[in-house]
Amino acid sequence: MPTNRRIARCEECGETREMATKTECFGCYRRRRRAEEGQPVDRHNPAIRREHRHILKAHAQLLLALGELGVSRNHVFEVLDVIEPYVAPVVEFLRAGERERQLRVHVHDDNMSRDEVPVNDEQRLEGERGQS
Ligand SMILES: [Zn+2]
Repeated sequence: MPTNRRIARCEECGETREMATKTECFGCYRRRRRAEEGQPVDRHNPAIRREHRHILKAHAQLLLALGELGVSRNHVFEVLDVIEPYVAPVVEFLRAGERERQLRVHVHDDNMSRDEVPVNDEQRLEGERGQS
């Protein structure tokens, strides 16, 4: 099958080949793209799908609304407990906040010092910044 592709000397590898771009053959072009992308991306199988986006958006809007209303911390978590079954499909995308919350509840309930409880990466980084 004839192609309209230009045959020229690739500036990358020096071979005279069918060119993918003005300066690169197909081999060099694909190699560069793979390096740039790091890993293959499958845009047709997104982790966060349309139905997830609706829930995530509503979840964010709810938090913003609670903020606008000046709702206290305990009441915010009560509301989050009530809606938990409704946000279950996206809970894996909210998990970081959940860990943080359990940590704080744990600290409060057991009256432990912060040094005795496991810290997440963010808090550890903050601690290191504070020491330096
Ligand atoms: Zn090449």
